[in-house]
Amino acid sequence: MEIIFIYLFVIGCCLGSFINVVIYRLPLNKSIVYPNSSCPKCNAKIKWFDNLPIISWFLLNGKCRSCKTKIAFSYPIIEFFTGLLVFLNLYAQPAIYSQQPTYITIFLGSIFSVTLFTLALLDFKYYWLPQPLTLGGLILGITSSLLIDLSNDFYQFSYSIYALIASFLGFIFFNLLSHFGRKIFNKPVLGGGDAKLAAMMGSWLGINGLFISIWLTFASAGIFVILGLVLKKIKRNQKIPLGVFLAFSGLLVWYFGNQVFLKIIFFQI
Ligand SMILES: [Zn+2]
Repeated sequence: MEIIFIYLFVIGCCLGSFINVVIYRLPLNKSIVYPNSSCPKCNAKIKWFDNLPIISWFLLNGKCRSCKTKIAFSYPIIEFFTGLLVFLNLYAQPAIYSQQPTYITIFLGSIFSVTLFTLALLDFKYYWLPQPLTLGGLILGITSSLLIDLSNDFYQFSYSIYALIASFLGFIFFNLLSHFGRKIFNKPVLGGGDAKLAAMMGSWLGINGLFISIWLTFASAGIFVILGLVLKKIKRNQKIPLGVFLAFSGLLVWYFGNQVFLKIIFFQI
């Protein structure tokens, strides 16, 4: 059993290393697979032994081997948290896949959590939810539900229909919010990527999971804004990366399932 812990964590750290590449190159419109990593300052190719997740950063003391330029501490941090997110899928209780064996939820959860984490980081840094990631995640979510359907019962497409309806509802809901928000405040209040992210989350969490996530998103973003204003850490007109709250709410609902949040929403705790 312990060996699975280590495996999942290590795989997660490697995926985290890939996330670092994606969030660095995607905004620059560079290919994420080619060429191999090099130092942005001196262009020295990074050797494999200097590219090990987490470990290499500490061995190199956070500096490039050739030119000694600082490597941001966010690199090992992102690798560590991706490792943690993948590992935690061992305990994930996603409501829509509660009947599935653990290895299925680990596999699907790894894809879902890594995609959400990447989107959260990009929205945090650039207020940007790139379409290849949201739509790619949506296609993966629908495909997963379809594969589960095909493996369980050939004649009932219950998972995939549920996932499709959920993603449709997520998309419509955020487009309506955006429409009315613009009417009321006379300016765009939601980014264009939020509706696509909601659609993607619907395809992984189902209808109930999606709306619980949306509730969590507005509850947490609301608390964040109020606290920020009271403590004078944010300004009145400051943009809020709502995708960060959406992504983390989606992660919580995937790991903890729907029941615990329904109890909180309906004051049963
Ligand atoms: Zn360098």
